[in-house]
Amino acid sequence: MRTVVIDADWEPKPEYDVSEREHRTRRAMDASGVWKNSTLEVETRERPTPGSDEVLVRVRYAGICGSDLSMLATDEDGYVHYSAYATFPNVIGHEFAGEIVETGADVRLFEEGDLVTSEVTDYCGRCNACRQGSPGHCNRFEQLGFTISGAFAEFVAVPEKLCWNVSPLRNAYDDEDALLKAAATIEPATITYHGLFARAEGILPGDYHVYHGAGPIGLTGMNVSRGAGAGAVIAFEPSDERRAIAREIGFEHVYDPLERDPVDVIDEVTNGEGADVHVETSGAVSQTYPVIEDSLAEGANVVHISNAGSDPAIALRKYQGSTAQIYGAEGHTGQRIYPRVIRMMAAGRVDNSPIVTTTMALSDADDAFERAAERVDGKVLLEM
Ligand SMILES: [Zn+2]
Ligand SMILES: [Zn+2]
Repeated sequence: MRTVVIDADWEPKPEYDVSEREHRTRRAMDASGVWKNSTLEVETRERPTPGSDEVLVRVRYAGICGSDLSMLATDEDGYVHYSAYATFPNVIGHEFAGEIVETGADVRLFEEGDLVTSEVTDYCGRCNACRQGSPGHCNRFEQLGFTISGAFAEFVAVPEKLCWNVSPLRNAYDDEDALLKAAATIEPATITYHGLFARAEGILPGDYHVYHGAGPIGLTGMNVSRGAGAGAVIAFEPSDERRAIAREIGFEHVYDPLERDPVDVIDEVTNGEGADVHVETSGAVSQTYPVIEDSLAEGANVVHISNAGSDPAIALRKYQGSTAQIYGAEGHTGQRIYPRVIRMMAAGRVDNSPIVTTTMALSDADDAFERAAERVDGKVLLEM
């Protein structure tokens, strides 16, 4: 089968303290400290055989994520930008949908022909983090498309416990192709859903939501916020193309933060009350946090989702003065997230299809990555 593989050289920086486990498994907790000279190749590999608790999925669509781009992008010394858990060479890709074509002997929840998507983090269920209810921070986690074979491939083997049936989406999409395309956007939408409703506390229908950054995570998140009854959704995004996409999908309050002072805009749209919910999805934290801190509604939730390279100065008094709090949110793992995003999509409350602005064949992965790196699309999908 054809796959998209990223390879790189294992060359730990002198200051990177390689653990015994990292050395043995070649899985670096911070890829940017170890892996350099990454390359992308369309490669033919053996079709995987599902393990006893796994299903084999024939992938139809898979989205290119910012993290995929950052595994390929390198700094001036050749080290990859990606600063989390990764090993190479590996078949990448983790936002996907497809059809189950084979099931392992112990699989109970699914059968051949089921249309599914999947979570990314495989968790053990036994470690302290798992038993505390945080499987996303499992001490022995592996990640599809980062440390285990991912979805930029014609087939991917996935533990059944990570899969979710997307056939309820038949309610909202009449043909299977449109359904699977939409289903490939579930994963990015779960990132903000998790931040808003599993991490932050007490977000209410009617709250004012502000998105700092309208890339793929911001755009799908804005859809989730609107679908969940936000009083208004405001977005700040410097890219003309991405602002145009946001307007096209019906968002009225979309601004270039370099042109309009975001604090003034928020003040105007919220009639001086400030934002109840701020979602940081840009990574430009030294620009966005001063805005956030000057536009906190009483009791505001700040949901920190982006993976910024640096830390902003935090004006603690402003959080005290507004009874506001910052919630860190990463990933989406947990039993309550995926099914609810799927329900919102099935009910027609969230439709990410118009955010998919480019679809290319797996064999054109090189061009697709180049296109995605321009960061002008809502979402770039590969079609297998
Ligand atoms: Zn992703
Ligand atoms: Zn665990």
